[in-house]
Amino acid sequence: MTARVLIVDDVFANIRLLEARLTAEYFSVVTAMSGPQALDICERGECDVVLLDVMMPGMDGYEVCRRLKAAPSTAHLPVVMVTALDSPSDRLAGLQAGADDFLTKPINELALLTRVRSLARLKNLTDELRARAVSSSGLGLPDPLAMAAAEDGQNGRVLLIEDRANAADRMSAALQQHHTVEIEVHAPEAMTRLSEVGYDVAVLSLGLNSADPLRLISQIRADNKMRNLPILVLAETPEDPRIHRALDMGVNDYLIRPVDRNELIARVTTQIRKKRYQERLRDNLKASMELAIVDPLTKLHNRRYLQTQLSSLMSDDVARGAAVSLLVLDLDHFKSINDQHGHDVGDDVLRECAERLRQAVRGIDIVARFGGEEFVVAMPDTEPFAAQRVAERIRTSIEKTPFTVSGGQKTVLVTASIGIATTSKAAASGDALFKQADAALYEAKRSGRNCVRAAA
Ligand code: GH3
Ligand code: MG
Ligand code: MG
Repeated sequence: MTARVLIVDDVFANIRLLEARLTAEYFSVVTAMSGPQALDICERGECDVVLLDVMMPGMDGYEVCRRLKAAPSTAHLPVVMVTALDSPSDRLAGLQAGADDFLTKPINELALLTRVRSLARLKNLTDELRARAVSSSGLGLPDPLAMAAAEDGQNGRVLLIEDRANAADRMSAALQQHHTVEIEVHAPEAMTRLSEVGYDVAVLSLGLNSADPLRLISQIRADNKMRNLPILVLAETPEDPRIHRALDMGVNDYLIRPVDRNELIARVTTQIRKKRYQERLRDNLKASMELAIVDPLTKLHNRRYLQTQLSSLMSDDVARGAAVSLLVLDLDHFKSINDQHGHDVGDDVLRECAERLRQAVRGIDIVARFGGEEFVVAMPDTEPFAAQRVAERIRTSIEKTPFTVSGGQKTVLVTASIGIATTSKAAASGDALFKQADAALYEAKRSGRNCVRAAA
C-alpha cells in the first residue's frame, strides 16, 4: 500500500536521504523544516504518517508530537520519532509525548519501510472509521473523535506470555502500576485465555520454549474475536529476523531485551490507547449505522432501509424471473387502543406485533416498521398464493392470542388488516408494488378490517 509520508527535519540533507528511500518504494513524500510548518501540514490533513526529527531549533519534535496527539483532528496520525540518540530516556520522552514508534539514526532501511508500511495500514483503517464517524455526528451521538482522542490507555488488562519466571515477574511488577497483569507460560492456554476474556493487549516472548510463538501469533490473527488484539513481542536482539515476520503477520510492536521498564509501560499503554481509540470509533459507527436503518421502538428495519433494499431485491429477482411479494399491514383501530389504555400500552402492542411478524416470516424476508402502526414485509421469491398464506398466518397470529402489555399486567385484543401485491408488468418497481399493496390494504379496511386482500 502507498501513503503520504511527512518528513520533518531541520537539516535538508536528512530530508533528502529519507525522501529518496521512501519515494523508491512509491510512497509520496511531503516535507517540513520546522515544527510549526509540520503542524500546519498535519492540520490540513495532507499526510498519513509523520517522521519527526527530535532535535529541531524552536519547537522540538516532542512538542510537535504532543500537540498532534492533543488535537482531535490530528490525534490519529501515526508519528515516528527519528532520533540520533538511542538512550532509553530519549525513547521514553517520545513515547510519553504520544509517539507511535522510533527510528534511530543512522536509519536501518528495512526498519524504516516496515514501520512506515504498518503505520500507514493502521492509518488507512482509522481513516475509514473516522470518515463515517464524522458523517454520523449529525445524528445526536456524542462526538466520537473527541471521546476517542481523550482515551489515556490506563487500567488495561494485559496477558504476559512468558516462560522465564524472573523476566515475567519483573515486567509484571512494572506494568502493574498502571494495568492489571496476568502471566501465562503455555501457548495453548494463552490462546484459550485470550479468546475467553477481554484482554487489551498481549505481550509475547519470542523465546518461548514450549511452542512456536509465530504460530501463536497466526492463530490469534486468524480468530475473529482477537483480530484486533494488540500484540507486542519480546526479542533478544534487533537482528532477530522473526521480528519482521511477526510485524508482517500483524504484530503491533516489539521490545528488545533487556526490557526497559518505562519503555515497556509506555509501549503497552500506547497500544491500549490505540485499541480503545479504534473501538470507540467502531462502536460509534455501529450505533450510527443502526440509527440509520433500525426503528428504535421495535428494532425492526425502518422505512428507509426497506426502500433501498426493496429496489435492489426487485432488480435482482425480476431480472431472474422470480416474483417478489410485498405485504402491508395496518393495525385496526389502533388509535382507540391508545385512547383506552394509554400510549405506553400502544407501544407495547407495536413491539409485540413486531415480534409476531418476525416469528411468522423467513430469515430472508425483510420486516420493517413503515411508520406509526403500519408494517411492511418484503418477500423475495414468493408467488401470490404463498404471499396469501403468509398474510393469513400473520393475521391469525395477531387475532388469536391477546397481546400481553404493561409488563404482563393486562391483555389487549388486537387485529390487523393486510394488503398484498406481487411483482408484475404493472408493478415492476418498488414504489409501484407498494402502491398496489397499499390499495389492497385500503380494500381490506373497507371490507370490515381483520382480513387479507390481494391487489387486483
Ligand atoms: P384504522 O383501523 O383505520 O387503521 O384506524 P387506526 O386508529 O388504527 O388508524 P389511525 O391512523 O386513525 O391512528 C393511528 C394511531 O397510531 C394514531 C397515532 O397516535 C398512533 N401511533 C402512531 N405511532 C405511534 C407510536 O409510536 N406509539 C403509539 N403508542 N401510538 C402511535
Ligand atoms: Mg390503523
Ligand atoms: Mg394507519
